[in-house]
Amino acid sequence: MTYTDRAAAPAILPDRTGVASLLAGIRGVVFRPGDDSYDEVRKVWNGMIDRRPALIVRCAGTADVIACVNLAREQELPIAIRGGGHNVAGSAVCDDGLVVDLTAMNGIEVDPAGRTVRAGPGALWGEFDRETQAFGLATTGGIVTHTGIAGLTLGGGIGWLMRRHGLTCDNLVAADIVLADGQFLHVSDRENPDLLWGLRGGGGNFGIVTAFQYRLHPVGPQVLAGVILHPAERAGEVLRFYRDFIATAPDDLSTIVNLRKAPPAPFLPPHLHGRAVVVIAVCHAGSIEDGERALAPLRGFGEPLIDLIEPKPYTAHQGMFDASVPHGLRYYWKSHYFGPLSDAAIDTLIAHAWQAPSPASYTIMFHLGGALADTGPEAAAFSGRHDGFAININAVWAPPEPDDVAWTREQWDRIHGFSAGVYVNFLDDEPAQRTRAAYSAAAYGRLLEVKRRYDPDNVFRSNHNIDPAVRPGPARR
Ligand SMILES: Cc1cc2nc3c(=O)[nH]c(=O)nc-3n(C[C@H](O)[C@H](O)[C@H](O)COP(=O)(O)OP(=O)(O)OC[C@H]3O[C@@H](n4cnc5c(N)ncnc54)[C@H](O)[C@@H]3O)c2cc1C
Repeated sequence: MTYTDRAAAPAILPDRTGVASLLAGIRGVVFRPGDDSYDEVRKVWNGMIDRRPALIVRCAGTADVIACVNLAREQELPIAIRGGGHNVAGSAVCDDGLVVDLTAMNGIEVDPAGRTVRAGPGALWGEFDRETQAFGLATTGGIVTHTGIAGLTLGGGIGWLMRRHGLTCDNLVAADIVLADGQFLHVSDRENPDLLWGLRGGGGNFGIVTAFQYRLHPVGPQVLAGVILHPAERAGEVLRFYRDFIATAPDDLSTIVNLRKAPPAPFLPPHLHGRAVVVIAVCHAGSIEDGERALAPLRGFGEPLIDLIEPKPYTAHQGMFDASVPHGLRYYWKSHYFGPLSDAAIDTLIAHAWQAPSPASYTIMFHLGGALADTGPEAAAFSGRHDGFAININAVWAPPEPDDVAWTREQWDRIHGFSAGVYVNFLDDEPAQRTRAAYSAAAYGRLLEVKRRYDPDNVFRSNHNIDPAVRPGPARR
């Protein structure tokens, strides 16, 4: 049962008359404590998160979003914004506040001639790719189909196409947004360009985005992609070869390394399940022939346990890792920018990588570089434009299994000396200086200016917060 009696207001809220009049006008669905679906709707991807909002409004359109923002401001309610609900820190939900749930605003409209797409903030990458690939088009998106486009874009957006086509946020050409005072703005290079700069990497700090418009590129539909697995015992030599291989790799080729125990995935033979492995995952965004040439040295190296690189639909590759990170398990992340891969860095990285008690925990490294460097700091707040890696140490477990938090922290501490900064979208619930570490000093200073202009009272603070009251100091680790 949802909250159908819209004239009644939740007792927890201060001004019940104002709340009742808001709820009476809402076109979407309202959930509150006690409703049958409430416990289901307040869940997010990370099963560690257990927050109890006073109200969850599943908005049907921009008018609902404006009404929510006005209500939260007038009633001084904490506000959280939910896109795909994937942020590991659980910032999409808050205790005793209002969750603006955008999941129903998930329309996607492709303009094939103009090579652009307009998408609602509730869309997920699997839905987005399905629509754009119908026209042989795509833009850089997340590598798991059930991640939301909204939070991923606003934090930067790294994925299989980034070394050829830039970050997701580099392809964000316009957006519609509802500000803290309820005002609606269109944002583009010509209209409110300072805000567009902030939306490209500054997260959900400035308002609620109600529509995203992206540039698209011809991709696939068939790409050369997949995984090669090597035994963990050979990790040192495999990673040294990999380091030299990617140094000259074309921008069409993106690679991800995953140090883990092989999951019981249907694409892996049972005898490999649970074996400690180095997974090198690849996607070549150009022609299959160019991909075969580019990948030949990698595929010819050593004695892999299995080589599953093949021509396949881009959408199939995008879904390849979905099952290893399902909704509802317990997750704890710690992350860095990392690199270059010196011998010492490799040895430190692999010394502790397979010691996690849970078979599902892993250390994953996304190779950056390529087209990331084509965009300068004037275009985007995102600050990780170097030829290193975004590394993420992920504890994954399901009670009653013991958690892997201690293993994650230890792995992170060990490699800390080789790192500089962090990708904001990989931050867990961490102290404020970690958000600072996601940006260059110049970018952080400018983010503060944009925040003070568009959200001076910090209405939008259930996020990796740019706190307008704080004076910036040094930080970049
Ligand atoms: C399994 C998994 C795989 C991932 N893979 C990748 C990857 O390949 N590449 C990558 O770059 N990242 C990846 N991430 C990280 C991902 O970018 C972040 O978790 C991101 O926050 C997810 O966005 P969301 O909309 O699903 O999250 P939500 O939890 O819904 O939102 C996170 C935050 O974004 C802000 N936000 C959301 N919607 C809006 C909006 N409409 N307007 C304003 N602010 C908004 C809010 O501050 C909110 O708290 C992955 C995460 C997971 C869990």
